[in-house]
Amino acid sequence: MGKLKYDCTDCVGYCCSIYDRVDVWKKDLKRLARHFDITPAQAKKKFTRKVGKYTALKRKEDLIFEETCIFLDQTTRLCSVYDARPDTCREWPVHSGDRCVYYDILQFERKQQDDEDYVPVVEIKVLEEVEE
Ligand code: SF4
Ligand code: SF4
Repeated sequence: MGKLKYDCTDCVGYCCSIYDRVDVWKKDLKRLARHFDITPAQAKKKFTRKVGKYTALKRKEDLIFEETCIFLDQTTRLCSVYDARPDTCREWPVHSGDRCVYYDILQFERKQQDDEDYVPVVEIKVLEEVEE
């Protein structure tokens, strides 16, 4: 893979914000527990919530999006537990090669608006939720 065509340090953390569910598995809990020097059970209680049958990271209010991941730093817009982040985060956006679709949108809109600070708010909704 060549040079990455996205730069998370020049982004606002779409991937951490627009998905309601960042899944957390046993391995992720162990990693988070090690990072905070607590037990996996404590990490589960402190940082996760149930979404249907899944265990996912908790979310918090955000300055740009309605909500974001509990671990997104509001000032840097970067992950505050980068080395201990769950596998789901580690795998994104690796499967889409050297690009990140949200970074492309960000750059596209900044060019359209002729404003290098412009931030389009992107939202992902599952169709059943829209129809409810
Ligand atoms: S949306 Fe893409 S560019 Fe932005 S932080 Fe996430 S991976 Fe990085
Ligand atoms: S753990 Fe870090 S990388 Fe993963 S969603 Fe939360 S802030 Fe983003």
